[in-house]
Amino acid sequence: MLNDFINKSRVAYFSMEIALHENLPTYSGGLGVLAGDSMLSAADLDLPMVGVTLVSREGYFRQHLDLHGRQTESPETWEPSEHATRLHVKTSIHLDGEDVWIGAWLYELNGHMNGTIPILLLDTYLDENTPENQKLTHYLYGGDSRYRLKQGAILGIGGKRILQSLGFSVFRYHMNEGHAALLVPELLKQFPFRSDDVKAGEFPFDLPRVRDLCCFTTHTPIGAGHDSFGYDLVEDVIGAEIEVTILKKMAGDESLNLTRLALNGSQYVNGVAKKHADVSREMFPGYRIHAITNGIHPHRWVCPQLAELFDEYLPGWCHEPELLRNVDVIPCDQLWEAHQTAKTQLINHINQTQNVLLENDLPVLGFARRMTSYKRVDLLFTNIDTLKQIAARYPFQIVLGGKAHPNDLDGKHLIQQLHILSESLRGDIPVVFLENYDIRQAKLLVAGSDIWLNTPLRPFEASGTSGMKAAINGVANLSVMDGWWIEGCVEGQTGWAIGGVSESENGNDALSLYQKLECDALPMYYERRSDWVKMMKICIQKNGTFFNSHRMMRRYVCEAYL
Ligand SMILES: *Cc1c(COP(=O)(O)O)cnc(C)c1O
Repeated sequence: MLNDFINKSRVAYFSMEIALHENLPTYSGGLGVLAGDSMLSAADLDLPMVGVTLVSREGYFRQHLDLHGRQTESPETWEPSEHATRLHVKTSIHLDGEDVWIGAWLYELNGHMNGTIPILLLDTYLDENTPENQKLTHYLYGGDSRYRLKQGAILGIGGKRILQSLGFSVFRYHMNEGHAALLVPELLKQFPFRSDDVKAGEFPFDLPRVRDLCCFTTHTPIGAGHDSFGYDLVEDVIGAEIEVTILKKMAGDESLNLTRLALNGSQYVNGVAKKHADVSREMFPGYRIHAITNGIHPHRWVCPQLAELFDEYLPGWCHEPELLRNVDVIPCDQLWEAHQTAKTQLINHINQTQNVLLENDLPVLGFARRMTSYKRVDLLFTNIDTLKQIAARYPFQIVLGGKAHPNDLDGKHLIQQLHILSESLRGDIPVVFLENYDIRQAKLLVAGSDIWLNTPLRPFEASGTSGMKAAINGVANLSVMDGWWIEGCVEGQTGWAIGGVSESENGNDALSLYQKLECDALPMYYERRSDWVKMMKICIQKNGTFFNSHRMMRRYVCEAYL
């Protein structure tokens, strides 16, 4: 079984989170879903890759909301032995004065065609470890910075050693975000210069050799969003594995910045949308930063009703989403029916679980994402009276959802705020907040909404992917011009832009949002239904064919891996 995978040289894809399956809680949000979609495309396209991630036995967390929108969390425990195969392999790293043993599970990720990608799930839940160390791979993004640094070491250093012990031959390492950057100094150890060739103060390793092996995708357009650790902590935790003087040369003098380390250790670096690459170049001057705009996995995200239509009229679309450019061959009434069925499923799901009743013939505005300040999830509610006036003319209903990180008090407060605001719309606009937003709910939501809303603060939306999921389901986007939407927006055809691309427009977005809703989106929905269905087709045709992970992975292969 493992032998099927070690027979050819592969690209090793390192990611702290990978959303492998909707039943497995090994992801927190967009980054993990992207990693999962990337691996699914790799499977469909039969790319020689291997994924490396942590097992996250307790998941990210399950979100519970009380009537006032107060979030509490509980673990989302899963049992690896029910889904993966324990591998006879072990390695150790010296962390914080102790040997931490790391084992691995093999998860076989099947594409829905014929390929399979091996995913290694690193696990410290072993008898050899102290009770505390057994939990190092339990909680995704849990604990304090010491815990997270250890997780980074397990992923980057441990992951590399496990690959080697298993006999994988790797011709490229891809770091999906900076979490795995300790891979770089671990690789350096393979290429030391002979000590008598190294003069005092010179770098004692062959860095160009390592850079040749590595590529790095950055996802964070916020300075503070890049994990960094003080060198006292670094010395304590990983000093025995890597000399701090080496790290200081590559990861910053002040503190260990994982993004900086990955940048210095990679010959190919990219951002996840054109705009994000521009922003990253400004944030990290002196580095050559390319752009590969994100995509979503077609078969994972197209709802079953539409998939059936695509299969009938455009066979082969799963492997070659470009075929969707001929979506016009699908009769408009059939496309509309498929969407209405997806919408009914969403509404039934909501009506069964919430004490709000949504209706099939009113448009649904969908809006779900991580509850964190830059996403500005409350922008829609800036002026409650205006919102009511619009709804009096053109009734609509709103579905919200999203988790706040357990330590993000602002994010938690935002959810409570949204509950208060929803309450103030009672009787005028039905508003629902879905508990525990995850892939399963996202699938219902992106296909069953009529308009997909996104209102981030420029320039902080690196890409955004939920709007792409909506687009391939024929759902129009109404979004702030940031991230992928700058590339995907054709005004009035694939949806509508809120404001322009300039950051100076951040303050006018609420007005622009209300105007687009009242003067463009809703009138079209109610008064020009055939134009609306035409627009659904254009979303699929222009954006579904492009913002998918097959195109994205083909570009990674051509531009980063080969
Ligand atoms: C797609 C997805 C996200 C990311 O959505 P954004 O638009 O990038 O915010 C987050 N969570 C889940 C469950 C998703 O499916």
